Amino acid sequence: MTKLIYEFSEGNMSMRDLLGGKGANLAEMTNLGLPVPHGFTLTTVACHDYQQTQTLSQALLTELDQALARLSQITGKQFNGTEHPLLVSVRSGAAISMPGMMDTILNIGLNDQTVMALANLTHNERFAYDSYRRLLAMFGNVVYGIEEDTFDRVLTEVKQAHGYQSDLELTAADLKQIVTDFKAIYQQAGKGEFPQSPKEQLLAAVNAVFESWNNHRAQVYRQQNHIPESLGTAVNVQEMVFGNAGDQSGTGVAFTRNPATGEKKVFGEYLLNAQGEDVVAGIRTPQSIEILHDDMPVIYDQLMGIAEKLETHYKDMQDLEFTIENGELFLLQARDGKRTPYAAVKIAVDLVGGGLITKEQAVQRVSPESVSAMLHPEFDANAIAQQTPLTTGLPASPGAATGQAYFTAEDAKKAADSGVKVILIRQDTSPEDIDGMIVSQAIVTSRGGMTSHAAVVARGMGATGVVGAHEINVDYAAKVARVGEQKIHEGDWVSVDGTSGELYLGKIETTPAGVKGELSVLLDWAKAIAQMGVYTNADTPQDFQKALDFGADGIGLTRTEHMFFKPERLIQMRRLILATDAAGRAEPLEQLLKMQQEDFYQLYKLAGDKEVTIRLLDPPLHEFLPHDEEEIQAVSQQIHLAPEKLRERTNSLKELNPMLGHRGDRLAVTFPDIYQMQVKAIMSAVIRLHGEGLEVHPHIMIPLTDSKSEMAWVRQLVTDQIKVMTADTDLQLTYTVGTMMEMPRACVTADQVAEESDFFSFGTNDLTQLTFGYSRDDVGSFMPEYIKQGILPADPFQTIDTEGVGALMAIAINKGRQTKPDLPIGVCGEVGGDPASINFFNQIGITYVSCSPYRVPVARLAAAQATLNQKS
Ligand code: PEP
Ligand code: MG
Repeated sequence: MTKLIYEFSEGNMSMRDLLGGKGANLAEMTNLGLPVPHGFTLTTVACHDYQQTQTLSQALLTELDQALARLSQITGKQFNGTEHPLLVSVRSGAAISMPGMMDTILNIGLNDQTVMALANLTHNERFAYDSYRRLLAMFGNVVYGIEEDTFDRVLTEVKQAHGYQSDLELTAADLKQIVTDFKAIYQQAGKGEFPQSPKEQLLAAVNAVFESWNNHRAQVYRQQNHIPESLGTAVNVQEMVFGNAGDQSGTGVAFTRNPATGEKKVFGEYLLNAQGEDVVAGIRTPQSIEILHDDMPVIYDQLMGIAEKLETHYKDMQDLEFTIENGELFLLQARDGKRTPYAAVKIAVDLVGGGLITKEQAVQRVSPESVSAMLHPEFDANAIAQQTPLTTGLPASPGAATGQAYFTAEDAKKAADSGVKVILIRQDTSPEDIDGMIVSQAIVTSRGGMTSHAAVVARGMGATGVVGAHEINVDYAAKVARVGEQKIHEGDWVSVDGTSGELYLGKIETTPAGVKGELSVLLDWAKAIAQMGVYTNADTPQDFQKALDFGADGIGLTRTEHMFFKPERLIQMRRLILATDAAGRAEPLEQLLKMQQEDFYQLYKLAGDKEVTIRLLDPPLHEFLPHDEEEIQAVSQQIHLAPEKLRERTNSLKELNPMLGHRGDRLAVTFPDIYQMQVKAIMSAVIRLHGEGLEVHPHIMIPLTDSKSEMAWVRQLVTDQIKVMTADTDLQLTYTVGTMMEMPRACVTADQVAEESDFFSFGTNDLTQLTFGYSRDDVGSFMPEYIKQGILPADPFQTIDTEGVGALMAIAINKGRQTKPDLPIGVCGEVGGDPASINFFNQIGITYVSCSPYRVPVARLAAAQATLNQKS
């Protein structure tokens, strides 16, 4: 027969699935010799039985009688006892903590007889009736579903009638009257008499706790936290101890370290003469644990000793619940304490220093995402609690920003130049908006998904970003954004939370952050553990410097097109594209060459001995061209080309599907001189640095390749250019030419493509776009619904789709390494900074990931965890 009830002394920590987290912990603490009130646990198996039959089985009832008899024997107290009445608490406890989601009933066993026995025993009538009225209210609420409010109203009326400020002022006589009134509530609610039999109370309470597994809030909590429905809850029945037995009694919570800062000092709160619920429910404002030191020094010392013992035993910061009953300390609960990201990092590092855990364990203790929260400014928690968001979009780039709203890049730039903190709000963004984006604290768009232009650029720059907030409607002409009836005018203050995706009206204070102190220690350990390298996607020395500060190994992707959108370069680019012959292209190319040389020189100089991978031009050419008539007129004057000619040329370059069109290495085939110019710029920067004593080995990356022959063609173009440049020097320059893997065809023919490639780097943005057939710039309109409906487990542009895109990657890796066993293979799409994706990449043999600067520490920690996961 399956055993359905375990005494605390029969269990231990490893029995979590059977006894629930709380039950297993109580058992463990009992066996550690800590002062835990006696009790027993009804297992999750008993809960499953109940869920199937909706009744408590005979086998369970028999074991319950035996367990109660044992409890009476150990405690010397009995149900219905007129001298020593046994009172118990009945609490839920699933294997995974679901705080406050299920029900608890305290003081089971009190009735009209035992309340007097308790009063006699404790010489405290007030305490006895106070306990009784608590039972009546909890039992009525949990078992019969009577609103808590109904009981609270009676309490408030009595307090008001006597002019009391707090519950403590209620006298025994008041409480007796309250008990009578509470019983009347049962009658009024049609529930009959409050059951006087303690056994009947207990069974009803156990039933109710099993039932509460399926209450609405518990179900929602499980869904949100991905807790399986099948888990079930255990029920803990435990001898009551009373923190409200007088002024030698009290109750409180204590953390073995400060949960906000991680400081190694017990942090806690307690209340004299109170029950635990008063502290948890915030009914009375508790005092600092330091006060306990003055009130009861012996108990305080004992508690500090227990805190230390528990932390050493569990090897982590603990959160304790304790009760003092007439000068005797009892421990009701201990569990790993919840903590802020800052505290999580500090505690993990300090525990290694204290010899309690290893560096590997410390690295596994901190969630990578929580590191992200440490790097960006955050809204002050108190300030944000007072606010209601105006609207919500996708959380594209974490951080918090407050500033004034502007709707065009030009206006944003002007405002920023005059010292205004700018928030750029647009329907969407394009490369032309870059100037305005660079100066913005946050970027908000109403269209677009997590890899839309706005999202990628915001993350790259470390600016806060919210995209796809489709309730926003920007009226550029009127310089106003509307959300329903509400309006944001140009210059209005708004605040953006890129971690939650929320947009607020008005100013909200922020606090800054960075990699320092314990975080930098933890990241060093992570670096030593991780198999995969962590590089950054950076296009400017500023971004690169940020990434280096965050510990990047180098650059995995420089998107050179981002270098062409500064106004003085855009003109040259336009002259280049619009020229009709090679002669017309020569001059703008020369201009661009100079600028690119300097760009690459700066990046390589900053990199020192770190590696830098530069990708040649990728986007469709028409992105560089004017779009409307007004722009055509302006550009026509700038580049001295008649408007008709300009219109004609622009039209001829227009494409219906530009993302599938004339972009990437297809540009090299039609405009070889652009790639030649870029290669020349890279190599002349390299030669210049050699002259300065810095040996640089550049990596040149070709975007969008889909076949070996295409790669061979472009590679030839690149190497020919390099040969020309080094022909009359005796420099022995080493360089590599690799390809992005972002076309499904390239993945399935990767063995051939590898013959022409020195490395691969997965462009998972395009690869996902092409594998699903989802336009990466438009998914915002349907992706949230796909996730809500459970059609997709997650946005595949944020977390790699292992079954589809991931499978293609695995094919490409296997085939690529059939040709070249040591082929370095990176990932430089957005998922390169996503912890779950990084874990997968480690499994399929990726050499390195590359992500935006602010994701570097997150990726580093995730990479280390991925290595440790694979080992275990
Ligand atoms: C990609 O496609 O994943 C990639 C990194 O390139 P881009 O986002 O610039 O197209
Ligand atoms: Mg791409």
